[in-house]
Amino acid sequence: MPKYNINPYLGRCAHRCIYCYAVKFPSFRGPTVPRLRLKEDIVKMAESTRPRLPVMFSDTTDPYQPLEKEHRITRRCLEVLSSHGFPLLIVTKSPLVTRDIDLFKRTLTVVSMTITTMNEDTAKLIEPHAPPPEARFAALGRIADEGVPTLVRIDPIIPTVNSDTEELDRIVSLAAEIGVRQITASIMKPVRGFFSTLKTIDPALLKRLHNIYADGEWISGYKYLNREKRLEILSRLRETVLRHKLDFATCREGFPQLNTAVCDGTSFCRKTLEDFAK
Ligand code: SF4
Repeated sequence: MPKYNINPYLGRCAHRCIYCYAVKFPSFRGPTVPRLRLKEDIVKMAESTRPRLPVMFSDTTDPYQPLEKEHRITRRCLEVLSSHGFPLLIVTKSPLVTRDIDLFKRTLTVVSMTITTMNEDTAKLIEPHAPPPEARFAALGRIADEGVPTLVRIDPIIPTVNSDTEELDRIVSLAAEIGVRQITASIMKPVRGFFSTLKTIDPALLKRLHNIYADGEWISGYKYLNREKRLEILSRLRETVLRHKLDFATCREGFPQLNTAVCDGTSFCRKTLEDFAK
C-alpha cells in the first residue's frame, strides 16, 4: 500500500539477526549510524507533504536501536509527524517502543512487533542481540492495553527452526491473549551470502537449510523456498490464526488468497488510504 518510510538509523542494525535481509543494501552495512539531523529534515517534509499517508518506521534497521535511548531520533521524528496527523506504522523488536505510547495515542498508529519464536535457545541463535521474546510480548501487551492496534510479525519462519505447529500455535495464542489484532508471516528468503555466513555459526543448520532450499528459486536477489513448501507452512499457520479470530497476512509471498488483511498494518488506515485514492 502507498506509504512513506523513514530509517532513523543507517548501518548494521544492532540486533544482528542471522537472517537479516538489510545487509543486501550498502547503506545498512558497517557500524550503526544515528541520523542526528533527521528531525530537521522531517519538519520540512511534514510541512510541505500532502497527502498524509502512513509513515513506516522502519523497513530496515530497527528504529528502536539501543542508541535510541541516548539519541531519541525516532521519538523526535514521531513527535513531528504525530503533531501533523500522519498515521504511523511502527515495526520493531524492542520493548523501548513503549516509551512512545503517548505519541502513538496522538495519531492513528499501528505497532508491529516481530516475534519469531518463544524458545530462548532459538532466539539466541537467530536473533543473538535482540531483546528476549518475552520482553517483546510484554511491551506489545502494554501497547494493546492502551487501545493502539498491534500486530505480531512471525517473520521470518525458518523451516525446521521455528516452523513446527506447536511453536507457531504458542506465538499465536499468546498474541490473542494480549489483544493483538493481526498476525503477519513470511518464510525466510535468504540473501546472497547468507549460507556462507551460516557456515561459521551453525554448520549442521547450514547443511539442513541448504537441502531444504535446494529446489527453491532466486527472485530479485532472494532465495525463495519452494512454493508448495511455503504454501503448506503458511496455510497451516493461517488456520491457527483464524481459529483465534485474528486477521492474517503473508508478506512478499504471492499468496493473496491467504490474506484477510494487509501485511504492513495499513488495513487499520483504511480511511486515510481511501481519501488518498479519491
Ligand atoms: S531487526 Fe531487522 S534490520 Fe535489525 S538485524 Fe534483525 S532483521 Fe536486520
